[in-house]
Amino acid sequence: MARKPFIAGNWKMNLNHLEAIALVQKFAFSLPDKYYDKVDVAVLPPFVDIRSIQTLKDGDKLLLTYGAQDLSPSDSGAYTGDISGPMLAKLGCAWVVVGHSERREIHGETDDLVNKKVRAALKHGVAPIFCIGEKLEIREAGTHVEYTTEALIAGLKGLKAEQVQQVVVAYEPVWAIGTGRVASAADAQEVCGAIRAKLAEKYGPEVAASVRVLYGGSVKSGNIAELIKQEDIDGALVGGASLDAEEFAKLCALA
Ligand code: PEP
Repeated sequence: MARKPFIAGNWKMNLNHLEAIALVQKFAFSLPDKYYDKVDVAVLPPFVDIRSIQTLKDGDKLLLTYGAQDLSPSDSGAYTGDISGPMLAKLGCAWVVVGHSERREIHGETDDLVNKKVRAALKHGVAPIFCIGEKLEIREAGTHVEYTTEALIAGLKGLKAEQVQQVVVAYEPVWAIGTGRVASAADAQEVCGAIRAKLAEKYGPEVAASVRVLYGGSVKSGNIAELIKQEDIDGALVGGASLDAEEFAKLCALA
């Protein structure tokens, strides 16, 4: 099954809603509509920007999609500061990042919580961009493939094959995020290939052939072409480079 490339821009905790509008307008101008036949594009802003982006997308009939960077495993209730799947769905979010290494590291998110969040997103029709990837010491110990595929299985626990097909998997080696140190295309392919092989073993070849596997970690317009040439890399989760409208548009065009 042919998989359409997908580029998602994770803004992290950057840009207020006015800055978000300005960036999306500049991006829309920089990436003409014709490119969307070849690539799906999403922006993943902070929660407070989402309503503004929804209004802009609807008003200007923009082809880019948008989503959030996290969600609660619960639908509603006494969870001060949290945002739920139904809230994201109501705002038209197509995507939500789940299990980003910064949330695992800073907020102590475990594989078990990440699994609950993946299920919560799917329950409300918001596709999870489910992140996994090893720290430097695991890579240096040579156990990165086992480590990452174990995290894959833990995060997808309890899902049916048709639910797994809705998930986007993002392989993000922690040592490559925000460091400027991109994994080589061969290193990224090694793990993305192992992720697809594990999906095939667990959920069958059809599911494995349809799930999009992204690479994330210091992706820029200068390295996307080499990465996306790899058999099992279907696009990228982009942090820093997604905060520059022209650079992000260039990167999407090259994908
Ligand atoms: C990310 O935030 O998921 C990421 C990959 O960041 P960067 O592109 O800045 O390394």
